[in-house]
Amino acid sequence: MSGVASTSALNLARGLQGVGINDTNVLSAVANTPRELFLDAALGHKAYENTALPIGQGQTISQPYIVARMTELLLESQPKRVLEIGTGSGYQAAILAQLVDELCTVERIKSLQIQARQRLKRLDLHNVSFKYGDGWQGWANKGPFDAIMVTAAASRVPQALLEQLSPNGVLIIPVGEHTQQLLRVTQTDSGFQSEIIEMVNFVPLVNGELA
Ligand code: SAH
Repeated sequence: MSGVASTSALNLARGLQGVGINDTNVLSAVANTPRELFLDAALGHKAYENTALPIGQGQTISQPYIVARMTELLLESQPKRVLEIGTGSGYQAAILAQLVDELCTVERIKSLQIQARQRLKRLDLHNVSFKYGDGWQGWANKGPFDAIMVTAAASRVPQALLEQLSPNGVLIIPVGEHTQQLLRVTQTDSGFQSEIIEMVNFVPLVNGELA
């Protein structure tokens, strides 16, 4: 990726280390990524705070801690081909694109998808494919994936995503409506194993029509 790490991004990465993020590759990706690029200029001054922020259309860019935590969990199995559901601002995609060989990402709001694509191009991240579509369906033509990360809360685990996991593949997904559990679901020889990681708070993974 082109560009030089800013002091603010470096400080954000140091702060995340202080709250338990240990993977040095994840911390470097945070330190290298200009989060202000993923926000409206009016919110730029808050870009390096460890908080979720609005990105329009009722959606949010996730809190940096949760981006880092989910990325760290996903990397444990050393995935090469990864699917993200909920491109949003593109920030999580930019972090992932620096750490895996190939990223596919799906978003149901066209305007967000267009902006995210431009931002990643600007950062010289070219290993990302974008799909305008319904994340409940995953991206079957591009599968199977070594890992799938869902960045919106699903009412239940989408069957299509389980079907698009490679053997030993891992799905990281927030599940629930008001209170949500972040789950790690692993495909094993004897079926899927699910583990609760922590409580989280995401916007919903919407059912139905594309926006
Ligand atoms: N990963 C994003 C977080 C965005 S918030 C980031 O780093 O900024 C969740 C995103 O999921 C929103 O952009 C929302 O439009 C999208 N989303 C919600 N339901 C969806 C669905 N069924 N299919 C695809 N995207 C969906």
